[in-house]
Parts: sequence; structure tokens; C-alpha cells
Amino acid sequence: MANFLFFACFFGGFLLFTLMRLVDLQPVGVDLALKWDDGAEHFVPLEALRRACPCASCAGETDVMGNVARGPETAFTEASFQIKHLQPVGGYAVQIFWKDGHGTGLYGLEYLRTIGEKNSQ
Ligand SMILES: [Zn+2]
Repeated sequence: MANFLFFACFFGGFLLFTLMRLVDLQPVGVDLALKWDDGAEHFVPLEALRRACPCASCAGETDVMGNVARGPETAFTEASFQIKHLQPVGGYAVQIFWKDGHGTGLYGLEYLRTIGEKNSQ
């Protein structure tokens, strides 16, 4: 029984991360509304989303020695937390362009899902 449950969880998790699809994605006020094909819905505050930007200059790049090299600290303004437009990338990620001109962050669907579950209101 314990073994069965273990495998059920294992395959459940596997399916979630391979078959997961975004049904809908749109800015609603100060949130980004995410709708997934398993019925889950998340409203992620744009500020949290921007602060979680995965691009090299925001999140930093790790070199072979394990040092994290980051760009200069970003001075966020109101425009930093407003979306100019969204660009789906090949069905596995979404590129978000912010009104302050930043647009190098590629949010993978798994990453978006994680942010959604952490920040959902
Ligand atoms: Zn960034």
C-alpha cells in the first residue's frame, strides 16, 4: 500500500510538470491572473512577479565556482510593476515586458506555477 501511494505521488508529480498547460494568462489590476488546465487559478501580485524575475541581471548568473554574479541593483519604480505586454514562448515559457523597459525575463511554466502557488491571494 505504501509503495502504491509512493508511485501514485511520483507519477502525479511527473504528469503535473510535463502535461501542465496554461489556459489563460492576463494582467488583472495589480495581479497577473493565471489559469491552468487542471482547474487551478492563481492571482500573482505583479510586484512579486517582477521581483522573482529569473533573468541573469535580476536573479544573477552562477559561475563554475558557485559565485553569483548579479547586475547592478535595480531601482524599482511604479512602472517596474506594470506589464506592457506578454509574449508566450514556444508553449513552455512566457516572456514578460515591463513598462520600465525591462523584458529579458523568461518565466518557464513550472516557475510560474511555483510563483503562483507561493504568492496566490
Ligand atoms: Zn530581470
